[in-house]
Amino acid sequence: MSKKDEEFFAERVHDLPDTFIECRDLRHSWKRQGGYRPVKDSKSLVARTLACSRCDCERTDVINVRTFDRVSTSYHYPEGYTVKGNKATKRGMIVRREAYQRWAAS
Ligand SMILES: [Zn+2]
Repeated sequence: MSKKDEEFFAERVHDLPDTFIECRDLRHSWKRQGGYRPVKDSKSLVARTLACSRCDCERTDVINVRTFDRVSTSYHYPEGYTVKGNKATKRGMIVRREAYQRWAAS
């Protein structure tokens, strides 16, 4: 962690739309899209897709229906959501600060 990394992230976060700040601060608001579907060539794995009602992020979980372990989770983020080259470790703090400052300025 360096001060430069924190500043880089804070500047990118400052440019994000409110919906992205909300999702980063409060986590995504997931809604299931359809049902569970079998994973090709597997008798025990199913997949489900979720979509965020705020920012349109999509998440796909693969679940083992014998053990109910979540085997994998993958995300497809909307354009502009991710901050590339980010190494900041205080991301949560920076996002909460941005959310607060926007609220205070409104
Ligand atoms: Zn979201």
